[in-house]
Amino acid sequence: MNTQHHDLVLMVQLQKLYDTIAENLNKRRLPPPEVKELEAANKRRIIELNELEKTITAQEEEVRALHKSAEEWCLELEHFQKQKSQVTNEREFTAVISEIDYATKALDEATSKYQELEKSVQDLHAEIESRRSARPEEEEAHKTITKNWEKTKAKLKRKVHKAAVEAKALEDQLHPKHRARFLRLLSSKNGTAISAVAENCCSLCHFNLRPHLQQRVRRCEEIITCEHCHRILYMHDVVAGKADESD
Ligand SMILES: [Zn+2]
Repeated sequence: MNTQHHDLVLMVQLQKLYDTIAENLNKRRLPPPEVKELEAANKRRIIELNELEKTITAQEEEVRALHKSAEEWCLELEHFQKQKSQVTNEREFTAVISEIDYATKALDEATSKYQELEKSVQDLHAEIESRRSARPEEEEAHKTITKNWEKTKAKLKRKVHKAAVEAKALEDQLHPKHRARFLRLLSSKNGTAISAVAENCCSLCHFNLRPHLQQRVRRCEEIITCEHCHRILYMHDVVAGKADESD
């Protein structure tokens, strides 16, 4: 067995390990639908709660302003009541009564408005309270979903780690020149450095290979790359070791 053949066999194994790594990393990035749903629901819940909090803050501010305005109308009323006791003629009396009417109305309006808002603030606080305390069975179900996903992620991480350790061991056995070439292709070719020849074509880019090139791939005396996608080419049966005996 020559170096090329030996290294080609290793590269095929290495590619399988890198496929495993990529597959498991991808799975880790894609939570199952129930987890995604849960995350979306949680996000929605937080947004809604924030909206409620904002409404409360705005209404509380309005309540404070209305209280202040009511106090001012109270002072006005006191002032006009005093004036009423000091009027000297009919005209002044009518004027002061009209002012009192106006201030009374304004005070009533401010009072009823802040009472209404105070009730609304109270209701919103209650609403937030009830939303925060989710039903216990729902919370339990959510916990289970999250826990299972965390377990799955940990398992995927272990698989990635195991494959990476194995890949490192294989890489150490490759000729440095071949290792560098393989790793360069791996990063430039979207994680696939090597391609099998199938039905006279590169199985990845489907470029038709000239018979002479296919023979060279079969002979395995040098590392041959696809003329189109530049990946390292190999024959399944050669790598499996069957060709050595038939040749
Ligand atoms: Zn190709």
